[in-house]
Amino acid sequence: MRHKRIAAFSCLCLLLVSGVAAAALPGPQRALAPGLFGLSEIAPGVFTDDVSEQQRWLGIKAHGEARVQAFFGELKAQPRFILCTHQECERRFGFTGVTAQTFGWHMIHLPPRALETPGLGFILMAHERTHAELHWRMGLGGLAYGSIPNWFDEGLASFVSRDARLDPFYVPEQRAWIRASRNFWDWGQFVKARGWRDAYGAAADNVRRLDEALGHEGLLAMINSAIGQGGFDEAFAKAEAANSSQF
Ligand SMILES: [Zn+2]
Repeated sequence: MRHKRIAAFSCLCLLLVSGVAAAALPGPQRALAPGLFGLSEIAPGVFTDDVSEQQRWLGIKAHGEARVQAFFGELKAQPRFILCTHQECERRFGFTGVTAQTFGWHMIHLPPRALETPGLGFILMAHERTHAELHWRMGLGGLAYGSIPNWFDEGLASFVSRDARLDPFYVPEQRAWIRASRNFWDWGQFVKARGWRDAYGAAADNVRRLDEALGHEGLLAMINSAIGQGGFDEAFAKAEAANSSQF
């Protein structure tokens, strides 16, 4: 009994120590309690280090989300937003200071440069929000087993966010090249090989062609079917074969 109590006490201590250690180290886990790390909540689930321009940040969020809503309809995911306007905030949460990120469908982070430039902010907000919305529909199982390949995840986010930084058209070799990206972990190799513009641009062009071939409702149906029953690659090959003029 005593041993059990000691063991339980030791476990509790270990949990507390690891919890304190996790909070002591800079990292995205701190977003679980943003208030402890200098952020204020300016709307439900929206945290920032600069409340003086909260209307501006909420405007970027609304504008970005409107693009995602135009594609998906009602938004289902309810991610937490971490909006850092200073590099110090980025460091506190272990972010790079440059890139925006989505964690599952639970958290979206935007870096200072996205908030400084509204046009870029709209794009990055819509891009990350698209990821969150697709991930919510995929669920944990779909994310773990890759019911939707990574190239489509990135291509859809770039397409829905109307990312004007990317070239709209790519040759078949480039479109086929990016379709080899299967999961989150291999994406960096593709970006490194030909640069981020070509990686995201070629992925978006694949999605744009699918949208043209299937129509908006058809593309949504293809996504939902792949999430529910699998067979994304077969559905893509079928759309490609039936609509050779678009591909
Ligand atoms: Zn992305």
